[in-house]
Amino acid sequence: MTGSHPVGGAGRFAPSPSGDLHIGNIRSGLLSYVRARQTGRRFLWRIEDLDRVKAGAAESQLAVFAELGVTPDEPPLVQSERTGKYSAAIAKLAADGLVYECYCSRKDIAQAPSAPHAPPGAYPGTCRSLGEGERESARRRLEANNREPALRLRTDNRKHHIDDVVLGRVDALVDDLVLRRGDGVFAYNLTVVVDDAASGIDEILRGDDLASSAPRQAYLSRLLGEPEPGWVHVPLVLNEDGQRLAKRDGAVTYQQLRSLGWTVEDVFAWMQQSLGFGSDGPRWKSVDDMVDGVDFARMLSAPTVFVPPADS
Ligand code: GLU
Repeated sequence: MTGSHPVGGAGRFAPSPSGDLHIGNIRSGLLSYVRARQTGRRFLWRIEDLDRVKAGAAESQLAVFAELGVTPDEPPLVQSERTGKYSAAIAKLAADGLVYECYCSRKDIAQAPSAPHAPPGAYPGTCRSLGEGERESARRRLEANNREPALRLRTDNRKHHIDDVVLGRVDALVDDLVLRRGDGVFAYNLTVVVDDAASGIDEILRGDDLASSAPRQAYLSRLLGEPEPGWVHVPLVLNEDGQRLAKRDGAVTYQQLRSLGWTVEDVFAWMQQSLGFGSDGPRWKSVDDMVDGVDFARMLSAPTVFVPPADS
């Protein structure tokens, strides 16, 4: 897989600065770096700080990667500094007649009958074709509660698919996704697409919990006139109950593992084991060993269970 891509592209890691990264987040971020290095791409970093921000978390996440030997090739892109770009993207879609106001609460959506053939959770289309009079009164109703309408993309519930290096073809229904939330915050699906395009990201590697969002993001990038990136969704690290690893599972962050005696070398030895390269050659001790050792075609495709070390 090495060397098969044009020079000049980029990959990225885009953690939300909501707290310390756990070993699963770190594994995805390291794999993104490895993939960039193996394919001659730049490795970029984005701080997704529009929501759920913890003070100091972004700096601490970057510091952990620096300790592991990884620094981004350019200064990180900070989403909170880019709201004008997200507004401009919505304006472009609106000029194409693809944006409408939505006055629904979460409860309204949960209680509405779903559209035929739509998967559970898909927007049922309640506000898609309201008349101007209905919109006016819905706006006034929200205003009285100090809320704004959300903005949605008009998609007519179409299917779209991506081709993923690990997962193969991923199909999903693209429903009328939110572009800007009722609290005024630009929505994740819009911001990632705008930012990935602006940074020249031509391949996205991230955890496979986001694979089902990829077709809608690919579709949105097409509407914005941007090229669709390539996709590499990697398996997650789970807890012993088979759920996504989380802080409540115990010592799962780099800082916690370090305080229990793990070294940087232990982190890479664990990466080697967990990705299925444990019986390949010498033990990985650094990120350079990981760049040499990961073979995406042979990487373990099943999720890994992480059992946190006890703290005594
Ligand atoms: N910020 C998202 C997260 O931390 C990742 C976004 C992405 O990789 O597309 O889950």
